Amino acid sequence: MNVIPRDQHCISRKNISDSALKVMSRLRSQGHQAYLVGGAVRDLLLGGHPKDFDIATDATPEAIHALFRNSRIIGRRFRIVHVRFGREIIEVTTFRGHHDSGDEDSAERGGNHSRQSASGLLLRDNVYGTLEEDAVRRDLTVNALYYDSGKFEVFDHVHGLEDLQRRSICVIGDPAVRFREDPVRMLRVVRFAAKLDFSVDKTTAKAIPRCSHLLAEIPAARLFDEFLKLFLAGHAAATLDKLREYKLLQYLFPQSQEALQRDSHALALLRAAMGNTDQRIAQEKPVTPAFILAALLWPTAKKTATHLQQQGEPPMVAMNNAAHQTISEAARHISIPRRFSQPMREIWEFQLRLQRNHGRKAAELVDHRRFRAAYDFLLLREQAGEETGNLGSWWTTFQELPMEQRLQQATDGKGSPGGRRTRTRRSNRST
Ligand code: ATP
Ligand code: MG
Repeated sequence: MNVIPRDQHCISRKNISDSALKVMSRLRSQGHQAYLVGGAVRDLLLGGHPKDFDIATDATPEAIHALFRNSRIIGRRFRIVHVRFGREIIEVTTFRGHHDSGDEDSAERGGNHSRQSASGLLLRDNVYGTLEEDAVRRDLTVNALYYDSGKFEVFDHVHGLEDLQRRSICVIGDPAVRFREDPVRMLRVVRFAAKLDFSVDKTTAKAIPRCSHLLAEIPAARLFDEFLKLFLAGHAAATLDKLREYKLLQYLFPQSQEALQRDSHALALLRAAMGNTDQRIAQEKPVTPAFILAALLWPTAKKTATHLQQQGEPPMVAMNNAAHQTISEAARHISIPRRFSQPMREIWEFQLRLQRNHGRKAAELVDHRRFRAAYDFLLLREQAGEETGNLGSWWTTFQELPMEQRLQQATDGKGSPGGRRTRTRRSNRST
């Protein structure tokens, strides 16, 4: 175990949340070990500001829970304790041991609950252990550094510091074995490579194509959780590129993968959507998964809608049916909760309604709660080179007008940037 003393690393307690410091000192005062671990230590060493603080300890979940009134035990696959301070949640986990040791020793330490499927998939992992055992159970070397806030020391059992310095994402242990235990680790490799702008270690990279098919075993709900971390953490554009590079996108969104191969606008649209989301996050503006999902699946929904229209369905009916088909198909791989699928459909249907830039309804559209997202989506489509008859700039001007003028312009069509011209385009639109 490599111990890095206070004067040889850049972590300062100033950058650690008071709540996390409080939890650690309380645990220590009760005779337990307690360390800051994972992403927080990694990000502190890189000079960044961690978004949350995870703690590892030798205290059992029950012992932790008993120490903090404001805590609860959660999880089944991994039992962890959440300690709540206002809006902040500190995640406290008990050191995990070797999952294959069902021996008396580990049972005595309070856990003998580990299960693996025939293919090596880890179903449960609640065997407790020591710091060293805990370190090697983690996914990446850069995620397995521990900080002792009492002695100000960093503990490194897996050459994590070295990998941090050479900016390398490296799985702990044999990558193929670790990916078999938990295939989501492949997505995590890609996620951290994109987020930190690190390269992927050769051995780790080589194991991905051999193991990627295992992602098909992952429950749709877990993939959705991972999707949120992949695309809503401010690095969606880089993540998309890496997912494609490692051929993993097809396990999350096979339809998007297929569209990228067939439709030249699809990549531009996805890149624009990801870039837009990253920018909004950087500016601390709100983002919704619905918008990203709408972009990821738009090429498929649009193609299906065109097809249904060619079979004689009216445009709005075709769009509706296409949305339904596209989302149900996607949901076979990744869960899409209703609170996101509903706005997705509305954004898509709005693309048709935005083509109606005349009449009273058009004037009122601007005040619709979905207008903003749908208008942004229209601009993205145009940015990606989709032909819309310059609708975007028409709506850009139009929405600035007071309601009265909007009504006037929309009903008489005079002086409107679109007017009759766009109306003729409507007849040969493709969606
Ligand atoms: P982020 O900045 O995204 O929160 P993080 O490193 O804290 O990054 P988490 O998903 O919060 O990532 O996980 C916390 C820690 O738990 C990780 O740093 C890693 O050590 C460990 N971990 C998480 N998921 C796995 C996994 N699937 N297999 C092994 N270890 C994992
Ligand atoms: Mg974290």
